[in-house]
Amino acid sequence: KKWVYLFEEGKAEMKSLLGGKGANLAEMTNIGLPVPPGLTITTEACNAYYDAGKNFPEGLMDQVKSALAEVEAKLGKKFGDAENPLLVSVRSGAVFSMPGMMDTILNLGLNDVTVKGLAQATQNDRFALDCYRRFIQMYSDVVLGASHADFEHILEEYRERQGVRFDNELSVESLNALIADYKAMVRRTTGQTFPQDPMAQLEGAVRAVFSSWNNDRARVYRQINRIPDNLGTAVNVQAMVFGNMGNDCGTGVAFTRNPSTGEKALYGEYLINAQGEDVVAGIRTPLHISRMQEELPECFEQFVEICGILERHYRNMQDIEFTIERGKLWMLQTRNGKRTAAAAVKIAVDMVQEGLISKEEAILRVEPEHLDQLLHRRIDPTAKLTVIATGLPASPGAASGKVVFDADEAEALGKAGEKVILVRMETTPDDIHGIVQAQGILTSRGGMTSHAAVVARQMGKPCVCGCEALRIDYNRGDFAVATASGGIKTYRKGDIISIDGATGRVIEGVVPMLEPELTKEFRVLLDWADEIRTLGVRANADKPEEAEMARNFGAAGIGLTRTEHMFMAQDRLPIVQEMILAQSLEEREAALAKLLPMQQGDFYGILKAMAGFPVCIRLLDPPLHEFLPSLEDLLVDTTRLRCAIETTDGDRKEALLDELNEKEQLMKKVRALHEFNPMLGHRGCRLGITYPEIYAMQARAIFQAVVQLVDEGFDVEPEVEIPLVAEVKELAYLRKVVEETAAAVMTETGTKFHYTVGTMIEVPRAALTADQIAKEAQFFSFGTNDLTQTTFGFSRDDAESKFFGVYSERKLLSDNPFIVLDRDGVGSLMKIAVERGRATRPDLLVGICGEHGGEPSSIEFCHLIGLNFVSCSPYRVPIARLAAAQAAI
Ligand code: ADP
Ligand code: MG
Ligand code: MG
Repeated sequence: KKWVYLFEEGKAEMKSLLGGKGANLAEMTNIGLPVPPGLTITTEACNAYYDAGKNFPEGLMDQVKSALAEVEAKLGKKFGDAENPLLVSVRSGAVFSMPGMMDTILNLGLNDVTVKGLAQATQNDRFALDCYRRFIQMYSDVVLGASHADFEHILEEYRERQGVRFDNELSVESLNALIADYKAMVRRTTGQTFPQDPMAQLEGAVRAVFSSWNNDRARVYRQINRIPDNLGTAVNVQAMVFGNMGNDCGTGVAFTRNPSTGEKALYGEYLINAQGEDVVAGIRTPLHISRMQEELPECFEQFVEICGILERHYRNMQDIEFTIERGKLWMLQTRNGKRTAAAAVKIAVDMVQEGLISKEEAILRVEPEHLDQLLHRRIDPTAKLTVIATGLPASPGAASGKVVFDADEAEALGKAGEKVILVRMETTPDDIHGIVQAQGILTSRGGMTSHAAVVARQMGKPCVCGCEALRIDYNRGDFAVATASGGIKTYRKGDIISIDGATGRVIEGVVPMLEPELTKEFRVLLDWADEIRTLGVRANADKPEEAEMARNFGAAGIGLTRTEHMFMAQDRLPIVQEMILAQSLEEREAALAKLLPMQQGDFYGILKAMAGFPVCIRLLDPPLHEFLPSLEDLLVDTTRLRCAIETTDGDRKEALLDELNEKEQLMKKVRALHEFNPMLGHRGCRLGITYPEIYAMQARAIFQAVVQLVDEGFDVEPEVEIPLVAEVKELAYLRKVVEETAAAVMTETGTKFHYTVGTMIEVPRAALTADQIAKEAQFFSFGTNDLTQTTFGFSRDDAESKFFGVYSERKLLSDNPFIVLDRDGVGSLMKIAVERGRATRPDLLVGICGEHGGEPSSIEFCHLIGLNFVSCSPYRVPIARLAAAQAAI
């Protein structure tokens, strides 16, 4: 079996066999760029090594030796030779780059004899000794397990003793003594003598690279980045070139374009008289790459030329490592460079305009999720921060403000123009009014799909949740965190903190922010995406401002307006409670009559903001008790009142007794409304069926708003949506309520208007009986949050906090199905619903409005099964446009 490839035998396409680094070294060699010769040991050899219980597969070292012989022949040097020794670097190279997996070993092949040969051959003692001490240091660290810090101490000692600042100023005498100290230290701390046989050195290094595939760092990295564990790493053995031979030498790294802005200009750094990692290690301050033009003009010119060649060849921005040995330039690595979202967008668009790539390729080059960065304020990456804790990055963006623990207080301060961060153990729908007024939300409990997270994302507010390090005490009005030094620090109400929803960091004080960048290129890319995609993109919005923002981001309509958020507003809640507590139909209708003009105003605003596009309005969905205070709160209140009554007399006592009576009535109602399983309980269309007057009021509010707008000359397309239907008769019943209301409004006003009635598909039975349901529904909208809950039988709030952690650890769930749509289960139901629904009604409009509507892989699935649109939070509209285009390519 062939385990070893010379660079000239490989090519870029052989990445899975040769690893990324090896494949690109081969590619550069074959397009004629100056690459020091070398060989690559395949990833298959690494896997075979593990299969054989950590033994080299048969023939491996023989193949290495014969390939090495060819390298020797090319260079006229011999590995281990006493006169003119060939030195090599041993470099790991996985298929996907895994930063920090293993440290590269440079200058391998040196020993007490060959170091003299190297000094002779180069006429440079200092250089040869510098290489040797670097080699001992790296090899002992990586292969023998010596401690890096021990070497640094010795090095520092010598620098001090000789009174110099930098390693490359050490004298030959210092270096000789230092090497002796190094070797002694290695013997003392590892119990092993530093190996003198170059072939043994090479074997040890190859073994160490193989082993590094399974070190903790690498395993964790793979887990986070979802890289399979069975890929293995390749090993590159490459002839050394030296950047540390003097002032006509150097080493550097460069990007062919600016990785942070995308600007088309070389971006990078280099160091004169240095080797390998010196540039990144921060030992000396490197120079900007443009300085090379003055210091080493010929090299610079050649380097610029090669950068051009590589960009044209790979048709992508490259991240390049190079070394200059006595005025000669050598290429040591190239790969597609990592970049910020802003740079990704600019580079993709520029490259189309430069004729390097097609529009389709440009669209595929940008990661939709990545765009999130561009749509929110973010912390200036150069700022110095005091991070006090880290939670889950639940909703991107950054915010600073005063700590507030109570939603009412957040609302009051927010309305008064103060910036606040609402800090809660968790949030509930009761907190909406506070969330609206806060700059950001921080919770100590709950996952990425907890209430706070979902609401924050929809509003485009930064949110950090599940920050378990916070010990929140509502009574004292503070939260405590452990500090790095082992102490405890307390932050009080009113203290200023910042949160970074993109990373989950919680930071002390105010931090400098950058505004979202909606650049010209960004718009161009999204325009191209619109040309290509076939899937519509709408937004979920409950307010005119949200609708407007969604429109600016390119949404063509609203896929979900949740009317309950309108019920939560502070000034309406009492009326809503009045409606819920009503003892008779008359009482309820009286309360509803008060709500009618308010709802009409809501719908007027949102329909107007989206004029020309469809607006899908869902009638009331959540169980009623969500609008009432909790039993716990009421218990506290009544107990307090009883105590007060005991010690009070007269009129005051009467008043308190009245209040107590009221609270007790409320408690009775709350008890009566209590449900064992509200998620599966009295909600959705079931509310509409038991209290048709509620839906009738909402329908009337919609249609009266429509009439107003039609009369004002606006073009509006209302879609009335009935939630949680499981049986076609439910829908038929409520559709009649809606249609009668519409007819009544038309007669009363004399204005005709167009509207449609449809349903959400969010329980399996609805999906399975979609053929029947489509008889009554003009549109379907998949409520995949609920459909996922009801298909799995997982309660979302419990699943995430109680057992998903264990599930993902044991690899029982590859993705959280509340984030990434479960194609096999939930997806099958969707497919069935689309097919059966359209069999009954070929022009059935079908969309999705769950959280999945903004998630790229779920969007792809929606495209595949022929949905008409996806709907997501306004801030995710650009992401959905791009993802929909990618799905269509
Ligand atoms: P990483 O994957 O961590 O970047 P590399 O294998 O690319 O590790 O090695 C790091 C650095 O070591 C390179 O950027 C280069 O400066 C230096 N290096 C590696 N191989 C050689 C070589 N054959 N000659 C000179 N320098 C080398
Ligand atoms: Mg590298
Ligand atoms: Mg639902």
